[in-house]
This record gives sequence, structure tokens and C-alpha cells, in this order.
Amino acid sequence: MSAAWSTETLHPEYRQQLRIDRLIYDSQTAHQRIRIFENARFGRVMTLDDVVQVTEGDEFIYHEMMAHVPILAHGAARRVLIIGGGDGGMAREVLRHRGIESCTMVEIDRGVVDLCRTHLPGISRGAFDDPRLDLVIADGAEFVKTTDRRFDVIIIDSTDPIGPGEVLFTDSFYGHARRCLAGGGVLVTQNGVPFLQPDELAATMRAFRTLFADAACYLATVPSYAGGPMAFGWGTDGAVRGVTPEILERRFGESGLETRYYTPGTHLAAFALPGYIDAVAQGDAFSA
Ligand code: SAM
Repeated sequence: MSAAWSTETLHPEYRQQLRIDRLIYDSQTAHQRIRIFENARFGRVMTLDDVVQVTEGDEFIYHEMMAHVPILAHGAARRVLIIGGGDGGMAREVLRHRGIESCTMVEIDRGVVDLCRTHLPGISRGAFDDPRLDLVIADGAEFVKTTDRRFDVIIIDSTDPIGPGEVLFTDSFYGHARRCLAGGGVLVTQNGVPFLQPDELAATMRAFRTLFADAACYLATVPSYAGGPMAFGWGTDGAVRGVTPEILERRFGESGLETRYYTPGTHLAAFALPGYIDAVAQGDAFSA
């Protein structure tokens, strides 16, 4: 019998497929279709509406770079907000920092949380049971519009701008999220793969340039987010992006973190953009 495949149709002209070696779960939640399956190369994989969200094999890259870059650059983060992040990997990495007093996670789909706790426990690794975690099941866009709480780091660990995730790529969402930053706070966003999704990065950077004194992006290459390096949007009114290598080394050493991708050198180098991505971030038209 020929193998079954998960086909990602995020892009009209480009598709990636992962072989489904063992299907674990496949159903519709209140918001999206969730599938969890095993693949010989990537381990367990979760897709939402057929788009790869997280794989056991390479999730460390994405979660380490989205959590430790803003937290170690900030240097004194106590309160973190995660929008999305239903698999629990981002909360896991945030809560590894002993100085974090609270991590609020606003996830729209309880089905994702419940199913990942059951079928992908290796991603959250107990984060959902950490007393510092405050899990809120709600639309992240509504949350930032209404909350009076303030955060030192805000991480938009969302799906791509389709379905419930679409609202998390709007100027009004970014404006409300910025309002929720404490003084010197940092906002980082999942901003897709610029080679295939240049418009998303360009739009986020355009919005961030109007909202923040320091609007930038940084990169990491995540094999299952196909198409080249992926971009993380970065916005802050502080000067923390200019943290010196010496200070970063000290903070990283004091954190006691053991990481597989993040290093202080990788952190600083991640902001060095190839010409074509810098051009996209500046709003220049891009065509491959
Ligand atoms: N690492 C993935 C990526 O880079 O695409 C993201 C993983 S995480 C599973 C994405 C989460 O965002 C999903 O659990 C989804 O339910 C959640 N989400 C989408 N739209 C949302 C919204 N408007 N408010 C809160 N969570 C949302």
C-alpha cells in the first residue's frame, strides 16, 4: 500500500509533503483542522489546516530563538505574554528562565492545547503545569485590545495569516499589542519565510516602523518551515537590540540554559540580514 502524505498548501505555487508513517489524530476543532502524525525524519508533527506548526525534530530552533533572544536581550523580563503557542513549546522555553514571574498564554483553540498535551507531551514538557503559567483561551486580538496588564516581552507565536491567525498580522493588533508592553519591553512575531511570504514581513515591518523606535527582524532556519530562513519581527522602544556580546554571554551563562540552537553568537548574528531579506523588510518589492 502506498504511503499517505501530508501536503502543505500554504503557497499557491509551492508545496511540501511529509510522509505520514503513523496517523495519531485527525479532526476538526472549533477553529481549525488539527492533524498529529509520526514521520521518520521529523518525529511527531502537528499541522493546522494542513500547515506544519511544530515537529519534535526541529521545534527547538524556533522556540529557542523566539523565547531567548528577546528575554536575554531585555535582561530583566519578569512578565511574558504569548499569543498562540498552543503546543506549549514557547511556554516551555520562556519558563526555563528563573527570573520569569508570570507567563500568560492566550490561545484561541483549547482543542490544540488539549490534543498537544495528550499526543505531543514532549513539546510542552510540563509547561502547562508550571504555576507561573496563566493559560487564557481567547482570541489574542481581543485580549490585547482589552487587557490592562503590561508585559516585558510579548511573543506572537501564531499560525500564518489564515483562519484565526489572520487578525494577528494587522496594524490594529500590533498597535494594541504595543500598548501592552511595559517600558523597554520587546515584541517579537512569527513572520514566515520571506522568500515565500515576503508581503507578510514587509507589512509587519512597515507597521513596526510606525510603532517602535527600533523595528527590525532576525532569522533562523527551521527545516520544516520550508523555503529558506524564517523571519521574526522585532519591535521595541528600548536599546536592548544593541546588547553587547559580553553582557549577552554573562546573561546566558547566569541563566543556566542548555540550548541546542541558541547561543549569544547566534543571537547577534541572527539580526544580520541577507540583502534580499533586508530589502523585503524595508518594503522593496521582491520577486524570486
Ligand atoms: N510555530 C508555529 C508557526 O510558526 O507557525 C505556531 C505554532 S502554535 C500551534 C500557533 C497557534 O496560534 C495555534 O495553536 C493557533 O490555534 C493559535 N492562534 C491562531 N490564531 C489565534 C488568535 N487569533 N488568538 C490566539 N491564538 C491563535
